[in-house]
Amino acid sequence: MPELPEVETYRRDLEGSLVGRTFDGARCDWPRQLPVNSPEDLAVGVLGYRVVAVGRHGKFLRIELEGGNPAAVRGVRGRGRGGPVQARSWLLVHLGMSGSLRCVPAGTPADAHAHVVFTLDGGDELRFRDPRKFGRVRLVADADAALSALGPDALDANWTPAAFKAQLAGRRRQLKPLLLDQSFVAGIGNIYADESLWAARLHPLGLADRVRPREAAALHGAIRGVLTRSVEARGTTFTPGGYRDFWGEPGAMVSELQVFRRTGEPCVRCGTAIQRLIVGGRSTHICPRCQRLRQ
Ligand SMILES: [Zn+2]
Repeated sequence: MPELPEVETYRRDLEGSLVGRTFDGARCDWPRQLPVNSPEDLAVGVLGYRVVAVGRHGKFLRIELEGGNPAAVRGVRGRGRGGPVQARSWLLVHLGMSGSLRCVPAGTPADAHAHVVFTLDGGDELRFRDPRKFGRVRLVADADAALSALGPDALDANWTPAAFKAQLAGRRRQLKPLLLDQSFVAGIGNIYADESLWAARLHPLGLADRVRPREAAALHGAIRGVLTRSVEARGTTFTPGGYRDFWGEPGAMVSELQVFRRTGEPCVRCGTAIQRLIVGGRSTHICPRCQRLRQ
């Protein structure tokens, strides 16, 4: 499942490929992928709009649009389907479990797993491919409001060790489920939660309010380090059918993972066999010697 580094890899490539381009429309043959728009509203809502920036918050892409081409918009509204024309709007894309984006020339044979397709000026198509269909696309007038339930982005400069320490204090929750909670901190998923906890020598079942100040600083540093390194490696791809970037290429982070999906292999710090446990229904990997659970 794409986490912050994989989504950030998309953000960078989309920024290079989409900024300055204008949408000619959109179509969707599986409307549940559009939780807040009808396929018709999406088509009208992007028509004539130009991409001015591509941002990210946690696992959400924020594609900022400025509109629009009044002639194009009038043309569609003339058919009685348009709403009020927004000067600025955002496409929020969540890749879910298996989502990917690809830009292809129009006329490229249809992809049965691409249920949301945007047409761009010049004839290209931006296709959102998602075999497992957990991904979502939203066209909104206010991205900040739409994403207000998210906690701070895990790579945001304002999310400091001190801020993290304050967040942990008084929370009687186990560390791993807390790190996965996107309203606590946004962007961390199963892989990087396990890697960060191992790097900081903390047990995933440890309680947040028992974490000592020095340990909180270590965990914050571990999260930043693991995410930053994975962005540099362009994310994690486990299997040929797994995560692929905007160009269809796999990420290279797997070889640097220390515990995730390494059950039975020796911990590189102490040689103890990595163990797998289930925490909050999620597969979890630890070194039982480096990550002791304090009672
Ligand atoms: Zn160890």
